[in-house]
Amino acid sequence: MNAKDKHTIYTLLKTADAYECGFIREKFAGEPVFGDDTETNHTVVSTPSTGSGTATTVSTENLGLTIEELNAKILRCTRCGLARTRNNVVPGMGVMNPQVLVIGEGPGYDEDMQGLPFVGKAGVLLDRMLAAIGLDRKTNCYIANIVKCRPPENRNPLPDEQAACFSFLETQIHILKPKMILCMGKIASEKITGQSISINQRHGEFFEYNGIPVMPTYHPSALLRNEELKRPAWEDLKKFKKYLDQLNSN
Ligand code: SF4
Repeated sequence: MNAKDKHTIYTLLKTADAYECGFIREKFAGEPVFGDDTETNHTVVSTPSTGSGTATTVSTENLGLTIEELNAKILRCTRCGLARTRNNVVPGMGVMNPQVLVIGEGPGYDEDMQGLPFVGKAGVLLDRMLAAIGLDRKTNCYIANIVKCRPPENRNPLPDEQAACFSFLETQIHILKPKMILCMGKIASEKITGQSISINQRHGEFFEYNGIPVMPTYHPSALLRNEELKRPAWEDLKKFKKYLDQLNSN
């Protein structure tokens, strides 16, 4: 509430009290100083109905923007320290109302150089994985990251960097309205589900984010490092696709 509204309410109460008592009481003799509330305005956009999930709030700061306007704003962002070391900001790419939003943790070297998500070796593998279940960033997917700027030396994004950037992703999800979300690796899975996730133990399970089904699975980089993970990752994708087909047939 802003100071003006608070003052109006105070004056109404003071008038009503004086009318009731026939005089102004001592507690209303002095005039308090009111300030604006500084808390960011948030609005709940939806609540999960079943399963493990999170009902999060979305910052109202960027609501009403188109995805192009939001991404243009992300390109100018200097909210966290990653702005100092990046070459390019990587807001994301894909289509509106995608079947699937794919979320990684942050840009790597190639992504930072090109300003596009998942374009290095891991990106090529991701595109193959998606193609195997009929998905493609050019026609029915959107690809984004938890942080939009590359952490130096490809380290994990720090909690304060994730926190600084997360409202952008929240708003992207709100605007894009994907049918399902696929989280690549631990960082993305934990941030979206709000839970501590061991990918080895919880990959292929379904969670929810504001009513949208979410599945954590292995990051393509992990599959490049360890071939043995490709089989369980493929099983995850088949399960994910089956759920998506069910949603589309309802
Ligand atoms: Fe802004 Fe996100 Fe880049 Fe940090 S990582 S500067 S919050 S766009």
